[in-house]
Amino acid sequence: MSRFYCPFCSSRYQFYKTRHDGVLICGQCGDPMIKKTLMNSRQIFGLVAALAFLSPLILMIFFVIKDLNQIKPTNTSVSLVLMTVTK
Ligand SMILES: [Zn+2]
Repeated sequence: MSRFYCPFCSSRYQFYKTRHDGVLICGQCGDPMIKKTLMNSRQIFGLVAALAFLSPLILMIFFVIKDLNQIKPTNTSVSLVLMTVTK
């Protein structure tokens, strides 16, 4: 995994070569390569936004599973009575 990448070409087919003045350039389009950072600000912002949208969903699933485990068998007898009364 190289630490440089070309923003214009697909990351699968990237190969780089050194120009005569020592600058790394993309082998496909010839533009200078950009140094890769571990996490840029755009990725951090995207991660925070995704967490803000996903956290209510995760909490909802958590509480639904918690409620499913707390259902008592007495509820079924009540519904059976309701079914026989409405018939
Ligand atoms: Zn390129």
